[in-house]
Amino acid sequence: MDLGLKGKTALVTAASRGFGKAVALQLAAEGARVAICARGENDLEEAAEDIRVSGKKFYGGAAGEVLARALDVTDDAAMAGFVADIEGRWGGIDLLLVNAGGPPAGTFSELDLNQWEAAYRLTLESAVRMCRLVMPGMMTRGWGRIVQITSVSVLQPVENLLLSSVMRPAVHALTRNLALEGGPHGVTVNSVAPGYHTTSAVERLIAKKVEQTGCTRDDVLAEWSAEIPLGRLGKPEELAALVLFLMSAGSGYITGQCIVSDGGWVKGTF
Ligand code: NAD
Repeated sequence: MDLGLKGKTALVTAASRGFGKAVALQLAAEGARVAICARGENDLEEAAEDIRVSGKKFYGGAAGEVLARALDVTDDAAMAGFVADIEGRWGGIDLLLVNAGGPPAGTFSELDLNQWEAAYRLTLESAVRMCRLVMPGMMTRGWGRIVQITSVSVLQPVENLLLSSVMRPAVHALTRNLALEGGPHGVTVNSVAPGYHTTSAVERLIAKKVEQTGCTRDDVLAEWSAEIPLGRLGKPEELAALVLFLMSAGSGYITGQCIVSDGGWVKGTF
């Protein structure tokens, strides 16, 4: 299936690991030019090289084009500067994956107001910033695809993840509203809501549970898997395949949606 992504310009944020990197690898493999950023230098250059190689295969030896920068998505000037540099080098951005690290775990009694504000800046304000920087250009050019990574916490509260369970539904509300504004200009905006997937973020959650309970990593995996009808955690590349479809030419009539990839974990009917 030709996804129609060859020669498109993509910005994938928070992409030195996990979902962001998996999406960037698949975009490069489809012939897109890919710009990535992540909070620190750690793993960033290695990710850029892996993405170049993925693009190289597509172009039969010619290097895939990749731009990588260490920056924090909550930093207004750094984010604006990166978008300006991408546009200066490649022209407008066609595909945007809005992604960032998740807010910390905690219950209502544990969290203070500073943590609420930081979670707002990391999860909602950074999504607003990225869309403000990229969406107007897409609308002017008459084509664009925006996908926001949220979580199953959009659909139901997740134990101990209060900040995510409050901020992520707001991100999807942003998706829903931007879909109305983007639609007449050929821009689709969708959310994806992952359940448990095997990324370093989930490895950190597992390690915390092992430390707190004294059980083993396998015990934690077995306990979580037992709640998932498909009986296992997802792979980042499975979530990436969904994102790529939503970015493809063929998904042009899907907008404002929140598509879940959770192995059946959420039990609601809608
Ligand atoms: P990960 O820890 O594997 O990768 C996170 C990436 O984000 C890294 O590249 C890191 O450098 C970058 N990053 C973190 N904070 C940043 C910031 N402020 N600015 C720039 N870059 C930043 O995580 P992941 O599993 O790929 O998670 C991505 C998002 O998906 C997170 O918001 C996470 O909460 C959410 N999520 C993950 C799962 C899961 O099962 N993995 C499930 C639901 C939601």
